[in-house]
Amino acid sequence: MTKVSEKALWFKQLSGNKPLIIAGPCSAETPDQVLEIAHGIKDQATIYRAGIWKPRTRPGGFEGVGAIGLKWLQQVKTETGMLLATEVATAEHVELALAHEIDVLWIGARTTVNPFAVQEIADALKGTDKIVFIKNPVNPDLSLWIGGFERLQNAGIDKLGFIHRGFSSYEKIKYRNKPEWQIPIDLQIRFPEIPLINDPSHITGNRDLIQQVAQKALDLNFDGLMIETHCTPDLAWSDAAQQVTPNQLQEILSNLVLRDSLNLEDSYVHEMNMFRTKIDEIDTQILKLLRDRMQIADEIGLLKKAKNVAVLQPERWQEVLIKMRREGKENKLGEAFITSLFKAIHDESITRQDHIINRK
Ligand code: PEP
Ligand code: MN
Repeated sequence: MTKVSEKALWFKQLSGNKPLIIAGPCSAETPDQVLEIAHGIKDQATIYRAGIWKPRTRPGGFEGVGAIGLKWLQQVKTETGMLLATEVATAEHVELALAHEIDVLWIGARTTVNPFAVQEIADALKGTDKIVFIKNPVNPDLSLWIGGFERLQNAGIDKLGFIHRGFSSYEKIKYRNKPEWQIPIDLQIRFPEIPLINDPSHITGNRDLIQQVAQKALDLNFDGLMIETHCTPDLAWSDAAQQVTPNQLQEILSNLVLRDSLNLEDSYVHEMNMFRTKIDEIDTQILKLLRDRMQIADEIGLLKKAKNVAVLQPERWQEVLIKMRREGKENKLGEAFITSLFKAIHDESITRQDHIINRK
């Protein structure tokens, strides 16, 4: 099955209309480790990744082997023919990577947040034809992500792609980084020709969840995967819990179901149109119900104003949320979905009532 795609030509040539696979360790550790992994994955991955300079959230962790690792990567190219990828965060990293024939550079999540750093990298890359992938910033800010892309584009780099690696959150969740799928979906709509790669390793932080996230990404039309791979993952010097062995990588890739992005058969189009008509009708009804609900919220706002009562009534809000979560459960609607839906509705009611209560 091939994917109908309007991706940039350089990318189609590289991926051959299949998902592009980037694999390799989180960090280059020793020459033998780098080579052993490369031989284990050379039939599955097009691009070999390894971090040489590792930005760590807290000091004291392993911060990468440094420039010496670039020579080990060159050996990978000599022995396997794979393209090489590493993370760069400064102009000096770029210069060293260029001097060692690194083909693909990626900008890490902690660097994309910093326009000065991204600009420095973009300036150092001027005049080269390297492939550059921009990881999403750690915070869920689409503009910052796009801004990083634009800085490279303005520097004349035209082989550009995005890597979605999820977003930090303060709450404890099942993933290391929250996927916030709506953000890469919005990005895809705005930049349909720019390849979008998913990094299920950094999203999940847990090798057991990689398969499921990788499949979801392909189901959402992502163009490739970056998966951290190590021959002895539990002994890895960084990100041990999320790395998979070359055999596990092979298993993950062979379990993936590739789907067509379009189907033009009459029966499919007909059935789909019927469903979509129903969805459109329901959406219109939802909108009308929301309008009615907001009108009542406005009435309540007027009553609170007349009696000088505070807009936020925490007990009532808790009651609504608990009731809706319970009813949601009875109707097989996910708790996280119901919570964010009713938070959004309640937020809007509060905003409207606040406006009413303060209106002169
Ligand atoms: C990495 O790819 O090893 C890495 C550090 O990723 P991120 O920037 O997504 O945290
Ligand atoms: Mn990592």
